[in-house]
Amino acid sequence: MKRNVCVVLFCTLLALLTASACGIPHPETVTETPVPTEAVLEDETVEMIAASTPKETQMPLPTAPPTVPPTPAPTEVVVRDPVITLVGGESIEVDADFTFTDPGYFADDYLGNNITSRIEVSGEVVPYQVGSYSITYSVTDDGGRSATVVRHVEVVPVVMPDIIMPPEKTVYLTFDDGPCSYTKQLLDVLKKHNAKATFFIIGERGNEDIIKRAYEEGHAIGVHTYTHEYKQIYKNEQAFFDDFWKTQEVIKEATGSYTQIFRFPGGSANTASRRNKGIMTRLTKIMEDMGYRYFDWNVTAGDASGKSYTSGDVKNRVVSGLKRHSDYAVVLQHDIHYQSVKAVDSILTWGEEHGYTFLALDLTSPVVHSQVQN
Ligand SMILES: [Zn+2]
Repeated sequence: MKRNVCVVLFCTLLALLTASACGIPHPETVTETPVPTEAVLEDETVEMIAASTPKETQMPLPTAPPTVPPTPAPTEVVVRDPVITLVGGESIEVDADFTFTDPGYFADDYLGNNITSRIEVSGEVVPYQVGSYSITYSVTDDGGRSATVVRHVEVVPVVMPDIIMPPEKTVYLTFDDGPCSYTKQLLDVLKKHNAKATFFIIGERGNEDIIKRAYEEGHAIGVHTYTHEYKQIYKNEQAFFDDFWKTQEVIKEATGSYTQIFRFPGGSANTASRRNKGIMTRLTKIMEDMGYRYFDWNVTAGDASGKSYTSGDVKNRVVSGLKRHSDYAVVLQHDIHYQSVKAVDSILTWGEEHGYTFLALDLTSPVVHSQVQN
């Protein structure tokens, strides 16, 4: 060991002398003492701290300072006109209906500000009138830049179920202008014969309990009118709709749902509406386009109020009508007239004896329409 140390010292001395004697700078002599690197210093420092600090009082190592996200380079704001977006698109198709609800729209400016409240809407959709409509939406931002878009609205007829022709000798008994106290008796008779019928009701009468019973016993409930005041009902389309919906609400109250069948007060061929020229021509189309089906009649009991008749008269008229319409018959009666209600038992008995079936109307029933007069 000592011998090795002496050899190293000797060699080092010899090298130093040689270098200085030759006058040639030796590279190793430039940095006689190597500078310790930082890493070495840090390691030594850590070791020293570890050695001098008792374990139980060790301080936690400092956590790294939170990193600050780099500031994004400012993006260039592109100035543009406002943009209007139409919910549902620029072309929509809607079923004919009593009302039209715009599917919605919104707008923003080039800074992304919501300027929907500044949109001005013009143009009209007549929701119950089949046809093509345009709605224009315009907006202007703070800088006076504006945008306009147009929505095309196509109002189309509601698709109705196909009519299913019933077997021969099918009879649809229909009772207008009720219900009233006679209607309960009528329901008893229908039940006895296991026959079904249709009630076109006057909403103003109320009597929801009777309507409910009729509905639950399998009879059809249709709108007739709320007031039966021709002058008011046929004043204009909106007046008709108002009357129609007041009656619908009564029906919904009684049965839990609206109906799609109805009978015009006075029938579609009435002339009581003539003060408003052409309204029946318009209403008959409009109501069917909206998915409602109206029924006139091809057999009448002749039981309109103010006439003197017996239940025998009623039966005879109805029976002769059924004979004339042995394919199918829609019979008009009024359950607010006792003689008419009283005749039903004998009409049903005659029908059973002659192979007739008595059914309630629905959307698949054959349509009986009179020739519109106005
Ligand atoms: Zn009536």
